[in-house]
Amino acid sequence: MSTKLFNLKGKVAIVTGGNGGIGLGIARGLADAGADIAVVGRNEAKSKAAVAELAGRGVESVSVVTDVTDKAGVAGMVERVRRELGRVDILVNNAGINIRKPPQSLELEEWTSVIDTNLTSAFLCSKAVHPAMKEAGGGKVINIGSMMSIFGASFAPAYAASKGGIVQFTRACACAWAADNIQANAILPGWIDTDLTKRAREQISGLHERVLARTAAARWGAIDDFAGIAVFLASPASDFVTGTAIPVDGGFSIMG
Ligand code: NDP
Repeated sequence: MSTKLFNLKGKVAIVTGGNGGIGLGIARGLADAGADIAVVGRNEAKSKAAVAELAGRGVESVSVVTDVTDKAGVAGMVERVRRELGRVDILVNNAGINIRKPPQSLELEEWTSVIDTNLTSAFLCSKAVHPAMKEAGGGKVINIGSMMSIFGASFAPAYAASKGGIVQFTRACACAWAADNIQANAILPGWIDTDLTKRAREQISGLHERVLARTAAARWGAIDDFAGIAVFLASPASDFVTGTAIPVDGGFSIMG
């Protein structure tokens, strides 16, 4: 098989939440395939460390400290990436949070904060990169959904709504931007060992055992499990793949 299919040399990727967790796993994969990486997050120290690690893989990497729910911040972020790295070919909308409460206990501010961080940010960032991708003759948008894009859970009303919304937003972009040669796809992670789920394990008793029992692979996912799918969806290998939502879940979603 031609290695050109998966070659990202000369490409520039923006990874929101690329300073830790699944975003860092994706950023590592894209960097190893040759892409220069802009890491977007709020935590400056974490972002600095991620950029140093990525630069150590032989690519250019910059940290842009911004809140992805802020329209002006997102516009400035894309402008800076174009100025410092020259172009934008790949956008990974990965930044996300969860507030675990049943619907009747969730405050409006909590609902809004989860929807804004997980869903509205993807709209803002995708809209902001569209001119650069169109100008370049194509691009790749990769959105991070969840098993909550498919299933429900009593403790995740806003999170599930945002992750269901991400799949439909992905499909809308795939339709709207096919003529610009931009492919938009979603990745649906199963249960992955990150800061986000460390908190869930503390808050939900029996979760660890339930995840192991329900996951065919009988383990939690690792952040580096996302390198391969990200390179596929960012590279010419996926040029006829658009609007999909691909589970990367060790079989969680197919267990009977
Ligand atoms: P982490 O908590 O490890 O990482 C979340 C990342 O998002 C951090 O890098 C954080 O950076 C960034 N972030 C959060 N809010 C903002 C904001 N307002 N502006 C900019 N950056 C922000 O979580 P995961 O790696 O687990 O999650 C990554 C994605 O994967 C999320 O969308 C999550 O919903 C999804 N997911 C995770 C699963 C899992 O099992 N772990 C399962 C299914 C989906 P900073 O703190 O610097 O702002």
